[in-house]
Amino acid sequence: PMKFEPAGKIILDLEALYEHPADEVAPIARYARAIQQQRGDYNGRMLSIRADDLSALAIVYDTTPSGLVERLTELGVLISDPHEFLNREN
Ligand code: C2E
Ligand code: C2E
Ligand code: C2E
Repeated sequence: PMKFEPAGKIILDLEALYEHPADEVAPIARYARAIQQQRGDYNGRMLSIRADDLSALAIVYDTTPSGLVERLTELGVLISDPHEFLNREN
């Protein structure tokens, strides 16, 4: 079992992620593109990711899953409420 269980789903804002200038997010962007390909999920503006994959990415970033969520939130590439996000964009 995981030591850390995020409060909700981890959802990436793909537009923010893919257009982000910081080199720091480049590996996450490559990862998200690979997941989109594996799922055949090409048209979304957001991508829900597995808790297991968040844990793996946290190791790559030398942090904890909660630490990575905090950092991605600071960088503005996470969506906290997908319904609010869709209403805002449409
Ligand atoms: P798989 O892990 O054998 O999953 C097969 C199918 O089960 C997935 O097809 C999806 O329809 C469903 N599925 C599995 N786990 C979940 C889940 O937590 N939530 C939902 N909504 N559906 C789930 P799909 O999406 O076409 O993915 C095909 C394969 O691509 C997956 O086979 C897996 O090997 C890989 N994959 C896709 N997304 C991810 C991901 O986020 N992380 C990882 N590590 N692999 C992924
Ligand atoms: P939700 O998980 O709260 O997602 C809300 C909306 O965010 C989705 O509306 C979709 O527009 C977007 N979204 C979230 N994650 C992804 C993603 O990984 N890829 C893409 N392309 N879009 C994403 P949608 O599709 O109308 O789904 C409404 C609700 O239906 C979802 O709410 C969820 O509760 C359920 N749902 C849809 N597909 C699946 C699925 O494959 N597995 C499960 N378990 N539930 C699903
Ligand atoms: P979700 O579809 O609402 O699934 C929530 C949780 O239920 C998943 O959390 C996972 O623990 C479990 N689950 C759902 N379907 C399956 C399944 O087919 N096999 C297994 N072993 N467990 C399943 P998790 O893994 O943290 O994933 C979070 C969200 O990421 C999922 O929410 C879904 O939106 C997305 N996701 C994860 N893996 C896949 C995938 O392979 N394909 C697709 N299309 N979406 C995925």
